[in-house]
Amino acid sequence: MMHDPKALIASQQPKSLLQELKDKRFSRQNIRFFIKREDLIHNMISGNKWRKLTYNIRHILSQNYVGLVTFGGAYSNHIAASAAAGKAFGIATVGMIRGEETLPLNATLRFALECGMTLHYISRTEYRKRYDSIFLENMKRCFPGFYIIPEGGANHLGIEGCKAILHERESWDIVAVSCGTGSTMAGLIHSVSDDTLVLGFPALKNSEDISQKISLWCPGRYQWRIECGYHFGGFARYSKVLCEFICDFKRRFNIQLDPLYTGKLFFGIMDMIDKGIFKAGSRIVAIHTGGLQGIHGFETRYGESLTG
Ligand SMILES: *Cc1c(COP(=O)(O)O)cnc(C)c1O
Repeated sequence: MMHDPKALIASQQPKSLLQELKDKRFSRQNIRFFIKREDLIHNMISGNKWRKLTYNIRHILSQNYVGLVTFGGAYSNHIAASAAAGKAFGIATVGMIRGEETLPLNATLRFALECGMTLHYISRTEYRKRYDSIFLENMKRCFPGFYIIPEGGANHLGIEGCKAILHERESWDIVAVSCGTGSTMAGLIHSVSDDTLVLGFPALKNSEDISQKISLWCPGRYQWRIECGYHFGGFARYSKVLCEFICDFKRRFNIQLDPLYTGKLFFGIMDMIDKGIFKAGSRIVAIHTGGLQGIHGFETRYGESLTG
């Protein structure tokens, strides 16, 4: 099932599995519920990160950049994916990591190092400047010949790649996706028909930022909404209820969710289904964006079991 990273720049994006989930919670409301298994694309270049890196890597290779510089937290799925992609294509990678170095390194950063990524730690104050033009100009001077990819792979090339997630010619009433930067959601909004509603479930508290970015990225598109009630207190915040939900989901469907993104998404969409928010007969697809590389790090850090 796993794809060869070299296929990142192949002309065709991989087609991930579309699976229907059967459960009383859906049939009771006369809902058909599907899951898009982007998590199965690759274990480290996972789900939406593969989509977002595709055209970025192609751009780097075609423009003869020597490498890429990108940004992320210490457990970032995007950092892991960028490091793995860099290794696969022989591109130098630099990760600007938020906060101070903590030793021993967690599994995500150890993996990045093993892939050959150079890690630089920047203070949270510095990290906040990551979108400022002066800061970025300075980056370019420090790393001549490197292409700068924003945090989460959230640039136009990233959004372009996410248009390939729903490749099937299915008509959906609802597409549900987790949001960090919102760029995956933006790609989905561009790729669905006008009568599909795209629901974004932010993994962090500040959903106004996401709404603003979606509006900028998707001018003239209005069939979307941000569901801000399921962030569980903010990014990487969680509760026992969320952990139990993730374990229950695994037992029921044999599909692993992660606690940062997809756990919150599936909790949210299933809660909305239970509440009868969607009309009978609705066809809903939720995107499993992957992110499972960080799960053991999460379990060790918080002493929670999520893998059953
Ligand atoms: C990065 C990530 C997201 C967030 O994607 P955005 O495009 O930044 O909104 C969602 N789910 C998983 C598993 C991720 O790793």
